[in-house]
Amino acid sequence: MATIFSKIVAGEIPCYKVAETEHCFAFLDINPVVPGHVLCIPKKEVDYIFDLDDELFTELHLFAKRVAKGLKKVCPCIKIGEAVVGIDVPHVHIHLMPLNKPGDLNFAHHVEMTPDELSALAARIAAAIE
Ligand code: 5GP
Repeated sequence: MATIFSKIVAGEIPCYKVAETEHCFAFLDINPVVPGHVLCIPKKEVDYIFDLDDELFTELHLFAKRVAKGLKKVCPCIKIGEAVVGIDVPHVHIHLMPLNKPGDLNFAHHVEMTPDELSALAARIAAAIE
């Protein structure tokens, strides 16, 4: 059965998309830990990041780097943090999060954002990615 992220890539489930390439896709996390919490995924359905072949592993990380640079222009922060968990959704994803203080990368914490806020933020991030 297709993962929820494959359904997002296929357009069967809506998302706040920020970037797409032939093999990778990036969109806002629906339950953001901080504003600007982005997920970068390979379109190929692989559960565990270290099962990706070297080529796609590298491509995904270079894609995440490009997304992070755009994200940092839009969301004021000290650094963009990166995390890989993958416990909830069995489809490789890199979490990118703008960080301003120790403890910002804390999955026990979430911010409330309206659909309008998420949509506007995604558009700004998308426009900032080169
Ligand atoms: P993990 O698998 O790394 O523990 O976390 C999965 C992440 O995917 C969570 O941060 C969760 O909020 C996010 N997520 C789960 N379902 C959806 C969805 O349908 N759309 C979006 N945009 N994010 C999702």
